[in-house]
Amino acid sequence: MNAELQACGLDVGSTTAKIVAIDRAGRMRWWHLEPAEPRVEEQVARLIDLAGTAGVDLQTAPLVATGYGRNLVAGAARTVTEITCHARGIRQEFPGGGVLVDIGGQDSKVIHISPQGAVVDFAMNDKCAAGTGRFLENTAARLGVALEDLGRLTLSSSDEVPITSTCTVFAESEVISLLAKGVRLEPILRGVHRSLVRRLVAMIRGIGAASPLLLSGGVAQNQAVAQLLSEEMGRPVQVSAHPQLVGAYGAALTALEMRPSRA
Ligand code: ADP
Repeated sequence: MNAELQACGLDVGSTTAKIVAIDRAGRMRWWHLEPAEPRVEEQVARLIDLAGTAGVDLQTAPLVATGYGRNLVAGAARTVTEITCHARGIRQEFPGGGVLVDIGGQDSKVIHISPQGAVVDFAMNDKCAAGTGRFLENTAARLGVALEDLGRLTLSSSDEVPITSTCTVFAESEVISLLAKGVRLEPILRGVHRSLVRRLVAMIRGIGAASPLLLSGGVAQNQAVAQLLSEEMGRPVQVSAHPQLVGAYGAALTALEMRPSRA
């Protein structure tokens, strides 16, 4: 066992599952991320075993679970909402509050965090795929573009073709028919990203824009999203260093705060 690993956070997302172990000072020491599986309980049990193999002593290191599947985590000392965990995780990296925009695979959230780290207000979109990573995933798959290349290709063109459909399914058809008409891929991608970003901007404005603007979630790895969001909002956007792990990290920090030695 590795005595340095003092607490664990597990984020069971709709698209990916992430587990993080931290040391006494709250530093991330070990993590693992993989695609979400339909048999959540089995996956969770395997991830917990994996943490054990990595040296986490789960008898002494508490585990906090978050994410949509958090209630299926047997062995969690506590379950905590994604909003609370994301706010806690991002505060460690960017103390002083702001507005966190988290874009995951099937939902997006905007969280207003006070300078003291409290959640002031939040908005969540889990109804419409067009404002989530799923929209970009589907578009990339349709166009035969790797997810990792989306951002670079999008930013490689300053031309943009607007996408007028508001629903993912219709937007995908629109993209295909634009390609069939001979429109270049890059300006279409720029239009697709603009459409996603405008949805986020509407959510941010609904919450009330507080500075700084912070970005997390798997989609934060797409540099075009950060750049277009910054353009639309007219201010800089700061991207988390481990954007997909913010929720799991926040869960681990919450677990660390539960340890009796720190009470
Ligand atoms: P959740 O927490 O909801 O399960 P994540 O925060 O893990 O979701 O984000 C998953 C999304 O991240 C995917 O839908 C995909 O769009 C996006 N994504 C994952 N990896 C990359 C990458 N390398 N580049 C761009 N986008 C990515």
